[in-house]
Amino acid sequence: MLTLHACYVPVADASQFSNGRTATVSSTTIATKATKRAHNFNAGPAAMPLPVLEKMRDEMLNYGGTGMSVMEMSHRSAEFQAINDKVEQSLRRILEIPENYAVLFLQGGASLQFAMVPMNLAAAGKPVDVLHTGAWTSKAIEEIKKVTECHLAASGEAQKFARLPKANEISFDANASYVHICTNNTIEGTQWHSVPDAASVPIVADMSSDIASRPVDVKRFGMIFAGAQKNLGPSGVTVAIIRRDLADRGSDKIGKILQYRTFVKDKSLYNTPPTFGVYAMGLVLDWIEEQGGLAAIEKRNEAKAKLLYDVLDGSGYYKCPVDTESRSRMNVVFRVAGEDEAVEKKFVQEATAAGLVGIKGHRSVGGMRASLYNAVAIESVEALVSFMREFERKNG
Ligand SMILES: *Cc1c(COP(=O)(O)O)cnc(C)c1O
Repeated sequence: MLTLHACYVPVADASQFSNGRTATVSSTTIATKATKRAHNFNAGPAAMPLPVLEKMRDEMLNYGGTGMSVMEMSHRSAEFQAINDKVEQSLRRILEIPENYAVLFLQGGASLQFAMVPMNLAAAGKPVDVLHTGAWTSKAIEEIKKVTECHLAASGEAQKFARLPKANEISFDANASYVHICTNNTIEGTQWHSVPDAASVPIVADMSSDIASRPVDVKRFGMIFAGAQKNLGPSGVTVAIIRRDLADRGSDKIGKILQYRTFVKDKSLYNTPPTFGVYAMGLVLDWIEEQGGLAAIEKRNEAKAKLLYDVLDGSGYYKCPVDTESRSRMNVVFRVAGEDEAVEKKFVQEATAAGLVGIKGHRSVGGMRASLYNAVAIESVEALVSFMREFERKNG
């Protein structure tokens, strides 16, 4: 008989983390064993809701009486087709996606979309407009330039991307094929709190790090894409929400697997999709609905971010380099006020030892970053805030 003990490796013994949070392994076939969970502030892949992980564990060996895990079943089976349909319906319900948009589950991450979007949506002789706000739009620009002319409708580069362009600093090209925007700049810690008006030019949004963190008016966009690994589940699935007429814009001379219409036609089942990731995303979407949907999630996210920004603004010891109006509720970038790298290193080390994980800033920005995605509980932010106060008391 298969023994399961080896599957459940305790994350740490009780002495390692002081956060006091436990997840109980409740299978009848194994001895109950407490698993310590970290306060996880990773930027991506990132924290997943505990009930989702528990459900995955419970269904791992026998999904719905099939005698197998979702990852062992055919993507053509009735069971998987039902999962695929259900996940699409959940996403449509939660994001209120209109019928004239297709919902696609792709692979290749947001990075493949940087290449696939211009291949399909750039029209001959029409440039692509970009709101250039950081490292991720930089990657998008690189790919756009391979296909067509790239016009920067605005750029925050001169401000080191520490604030987003204001309305009077944006000049769209009325002749553009589409506008590229990154709604939340994961690395720089900025987030658009309202999306600029590009008149009749479709807006394509990279929402990788803030999709489903707040309600969204899908109609404002021609397309939305997001890698799942920040707010929607594990890495491996990329969600694309695309207006059906735009999905049809691409030339059919492009490789078939790189055309949106291929995935529209076959309901994301043209080839083997990331089956387990789609299933896991479905569980995350169920969890979002149990939390009260996006309006409730947004309130929680606001409260979480406020806790942290209040400490940063109220203390002379820490600082947030990001302009107040451009601040992200998902990724909070901060430094010690003196920008002393040795102190910041110590901060990260001691935080990690206290069970506060994933706090180190991106290498291009330095300092610290706490990612507060949907699955990060307010208790984790409270733990971080009290650690910060204590660290300031000892080192300030
Ligand atoms: C993480 C991230 C990406 C890259 O996603 P991959 O899935 O690694 O390709 C792109 N854009 C944004 C805003 C991100 O946060």
